[in-house]
Amino acid sequence: MPLSIYNTMTRRKEEFVPLSPPLATLYCCGPTVYNYAHIGNLRTYVFEDVLRRTLRFSGYEVRHVMNITDVGHMTSDADDGDDKMQTAAARENKTPWEIALFYEAAFFKDTDRLNIERPEVTPRATGHVAEMIGIIKRLEENGYTYVTSEGVYFDTSRDDEYGKLARLQLDKQRTSRDEVVSDETKRNPSDFVLWFLNKPSHIMKWESPWGTGYPGWHIECSAMSMKYLGDTFDIHCGGVDHIPVHHTNEIAQSECATHHPFVNYWMHGEFLLMNGGKLSKSKLTQQTDDQRPKISTLQTLIDAGYDPLAYRYFCFQAHYRSELNFSLEAMDAATSGLRRVYSLSPNSDPLSGDPTAYAAARERVLNAVYDDLGIPQAVGLLNSYGSFSLWCEFDAILGLDIAERVARQPDAIPEQVAQLVASRNEARKAKDWAKSDQIRNELIALGYEVGDGPTGTTVRSKAL
Ligand code: AMP
Ligand code: ZN
Repeated sequence: MPLSIYNTMTRRKEEFVPLSPPLATLYCCGPTVYNYAHIGNLRTYVFEDVLRRTLRFSGYEVRHVMNITDVGHMTSDADDGDDKMQTAAARENKTPWEIALFYEAAFFKDTDRLNIERPEVTPRATGHVAEMIGIIKRLEENGYTYVTSEGVYFDTSRDDEYGKLARLQLDKQRTSRDEVVSDETKRNPSDFVLWFLNKPSHIMKWESPWGTGYPGWHIECSAMSMKYLGDTFDIHCGGVDHIPVHHTNEIAQSECATHHPFVNYWMHGEFLLMNGGKLSKSKLTQQTDDQRPKISTLQTLIDAGYDPLAYRYFCFQAHYRSELNFSLEAMDAATSGLRRVYSLSPNSDPLSGDPTAYAAARERVLNAVYDDLGIPQAVGLLNSYGSFSLWCEFDAILGLDIAERVARQPDAIPEQVAQLVASRNEARKAKDWAKSDQIRNELIALGYEVGDGPTGTTVRSKAL
């Protein structure tokens, strides 16, 4: 069965056909590193990780790029307000560069704990300003830009296809009062900044043909994706909030600069909701205590006693294109569900010894995964089969460390090791130290650390 994915551009599920098989090229908008990632952000990165693992499972060689936004993302996606990095620097009395490095490291610590694989390339926006200037120059040559006191703008009225991803009706767009932009000199409400000018208090600044300034957020993703994946690549991902502005603008500026299609498949992850509402990264530091543990980051979940992989498993309860409500009750349910998986017995596998039944079960799970990443269905099927080996095979996609965690269960010590431990205990009782040492060496050779506890020999697999 081929892998099919839902393409936001066409609003249809389509068979995935990459440009240059076996290579599959994937770009995901990365974190803006001005604060810790909240668990909503992390849901999107779990979805993207499942996608990359699924692509690899189906035989592709994945080249995955995820940027680090360390400049130019304003407090509103439509370029209003202040640069988030600069605001955070003022809040924490640090330089924006220090803020960026600190929260980038915190981000990767979180993704590592969630078994989110690191993309092949993780470029920083501040390291790619020359490439951004290069694209803006091409847009200028092609007649798509104008300059005001605020910066270099992209003129959306010059692009007939502007808004095709979100199917925007430009005459109806952004007429509400709070969306009116501060820059009076802008020609059309949907025009956006490619390069900010005349911001003397901004700390991160670069020279450009238009004057000293800094890049807009949208141009960053065009520059870094095309640099590492080419003018046209296979899949671009992000959260649904990016459809109307950020991805719309990425498409406009990339296609008007290169005159090539930018991306073949657009995939968007739905939001994680907290108490039915949105989570906000900029408000993480303003939260106040109440009776219940306030969960907003992965660390707060861990501090409340949850396993990071239980959060990953919790994410599998909903399809990536559906909203998911976070609650501690749902986390408790995910924790028990995952514990049941970790207590599976490799020695009493209902599908072992029956290759036909195994192949049929595998086919059903695979069909669920290949149907636009039907992970909730796949997990439901895996739970109903209760087969250790089937779970382990699909763990290449699920990333739940199943084999390792099952082996870590106290009763998971292989029979041969248990017998050696018993013989060593007897040898020690009989003060046969030579034999005790010999068995100890045998256990070490089998990959165990051997200790002498109050009740006798203890063993721990070195693999864990
Ligand atoms: P940011 O670091 O704010 O640029 O966001 C990083 C990623 O998280 C982007 O792909 C966003 O679309 C996504 N995102 C933001 N809020 C949520 C949420 N509540 N649930 C899921 N994804 C989100
Ligand atoms: Zn982006």
